[in-house]
Amino acid sequence: MCPSMYENLKLTDDTADSADSSNFEDSTNFEDSTNFEDSTNFEDSTNFEDSTNFEDSADSAESDSFHTYLPTGCVLCQRGSKLVLFITGICEKSCFYCPVSEERRGNDVIFANERQVFSDNDLLEEAISMDAEGTGITGGEPLLFPEKVIRYINLLKSHFGSIHHIHLYTSTAPGKDLLEKLKKSGLDEIRFHPPRELWENIGLTEYGDSIRFA
Ligand code: SF4
Repeated sequence: MCPSMYENLKLTDDTADSADSSNFEDSTNFEDSTNFEDSTNFEDSTNFEDSTNFEDSADSAESDSFHTYLPTGCVLCQRGSKLVLFITGICEKSCFYCPVSEERRGNDVIFANERQVFSDNDLLEEAISMDAEGTGITGGEPLLFPEKVIRYINLLKSHFGSIHHIHLYTSTAPGKDLLEKLKKSGLDEIRFHPPRELWENIGLTEYGDSIRFA
């Protein structure tokens, strides 16, 4: 899963009441990327959960890009404290820039960083060995296997507690029901990678619906 452009959103408690959802199309002007943060009003999404105590680092972190902040998941990656959970090599897309290796692509294999996972213990041991403060779930397309994603979120949150920050990459446009299940399982952030050809009118697509729900 390699982003060429993404929306990074904190999953809200009330997916049905996303802020300013009625103004989404007007407020997401992806063509004018230099004004991205002004036009999308994502500042609020950096106010992560009180329980994580990451607000200060997230708010003060500079991304060195047109964004003026880094979301918590990126802050932890920058610190080298985020485990990468590659949850499957299967994906229905065929992006020309796909970075997934031959070894993994098309295969339903699981890796925690570079360690192949055959059991829950493999995953937990890898997370413990690097003192992981969080996990980024990627693939392949993780949401082709939502039950597996939810199971691993539950496992990590149960073992490390709610402070273990988890974000997920997807090139799909999950519906409200699945977003609610992911939120309920403990997912903290979701990154949408919509196809390039949809960016200009994304608010009119199913990706727009997913972003509003999230
Ligand atoms: S969406 Fe699929 S094909 Fe595209 S970069 Fe991600 S894993 Fe590769």
